[in-house]
Amino acid sequence: MIIMKFGGTSVEDAKAIKNLTEIVKKEIPRKPIVIVSACSGITNQLLQTANLAAEGKKEEALNLVAKIESHHKKIVKDLFDGDTQRFLTKHLASIAEELAALVNGVVVLGELTNRSLDTFASIGERMSSFIIHHYFESQKLKSFWVDARSFMITDDQFTKAIPQFDIIERKLREIVEPKVNNGYVVISQGFIGSTVNGVTTTIGRGGSDYSAAIIGALLNAEDIQIWTDVDGILSSDPSVVKDAKKIKVMSFNEAAELAYFGARVLHPETILPAVKKNIPVRVLNSKNPSSSGTLIVANPKTDKHCIVKSIAYKEGITMISIVSTRMFLATGFLENVFDVFHKYRTVVHTVATSEVSVSATIDNIKNLSHIIKELKQFATVTATDKKAIICIVGDNLRNTPGLAVRMLSAITDVNINMISQGASEINLSFVVDEDQVDDAVRRLHKELFANAGSFPEIFE
Ligand code: ASP
Repeated sequence: MIIMKFGGTSVEDAKAIKNLTEIVKKEIPRKPIVIVSACSGITNQLLQTANLAAEGKKEEALNLVAKIESHHKKIVKDLFDGDTQRFLTKHLASIAEELAALVNGVVVLGELTNRSLDTFASIGERMSSFIIHHYFESQKLKSFWVDARSFMITDDQFTKAIPQFDIIERKLREIVEPKVNNGYVVISQGFIGSTVNGVTTTIGRGGSDYSAAIIGALLNAEDIQIWTDVDGILSSDPSVVKDAKKIKVMSFNEAAELAYFGARVLHPETILPAVKKNIPVRVLNSKNPSSSGTLIVANPKTDKHCIVKSIAYKEGITMISIVSTRMFLATGFLENVFDVFHKYRTVVHTVATSEVSVSATIDNIKNLSHIIKELKQFATVTATDKKAIICIVGDNLRNTPGLAVRMLSAITDVNINMISQGASEINLSFVVDEDQVDDAVRRLHKELFANAGSFPEIFE
């Protein structure tokens, strides 16, 4: 059994759905479970509808409902005729009615809770998956549509609900597995779930990949395919580095580091369930299905001499330097510093420390003034914004002498504010001024990937 997850651009219109169906057909012998996102842009429109309703802008909200309905009706019209077209058009109309009723409810109450937001947001996946299921049937695929809310049981932290693995596993074995074993292509939704009491939840924006990984891990899938609209994970951002290479194979650890540092393809949490079960994850391009994509596995058998896999970067960083005003060797300094960040729920990306000082980087500056105020009670604090983190990732960084010299000599004229090597030793990060980041990334890529051609099994 395999999991095939298709993101928003892979289901965006009739052409994309036909294309997806051809991709699925080729995998029938491997028993696919198909997990889909909402059509591209629809989740945003649904949330916008909810917000308009909360602001009392009923007309505008209902216009958006009509727009969402007609987007899907057009797909139905392009894919079907006759009875199926009529049936699906009616079905979409009834979902649109449900949406309009939600709008009315929020307008009357003048309040939008996260619980209601999740019901709004769930509608995109419900619409896309239902259309695709009927298209599968019209193409003579034995298809079984399952509402993910029947098995993706979560807690009630609406908008970022936590999946309850034990219950999900039991439900999957009850509802989904027998259908797969009976030769059905099971199609369901990513992103959405429900509480044990049947209240609709979502597991966080972009959560469909996570849904796919959970289902794959709990059903011990052979592999998890994440179909997107890029050829895979690249050696750097192609909008900055024109000749960025596609990475053919990388480790889970490398992919997770990159995800944290802004590689926009996969969210790190996504791969965790797969990592735990050692299930390979493949990132593929539905607009270019013959490309081999990027394979992410626990221990790739790759060349030890390939040191760097990718250079990621993140802009919009604020660097905070904290110097203890107390005596040397005072205990508890680091603890006090991190307590303050924790209190304000502010994620620290990188740190560099000495006995009496700490540099930390953050991107969420919502509570910066409070954080500074509290830190000032025991330290001298300076915060500088408009910084960027550059992060060099590769499993073999660990045992490679001389890399830092090569790296720094490629950018001798760039002012480096901070350097940090992660405890996993597979990333080397440093902080530079934001306006120097593009140039620095380009030059580093030129230096560190000069011999990428010698590793045809790793880079394309
Ligand atoms: N449709 C959801 C979103 O846009 C989930 C997903 O596509 O992964 O966030």
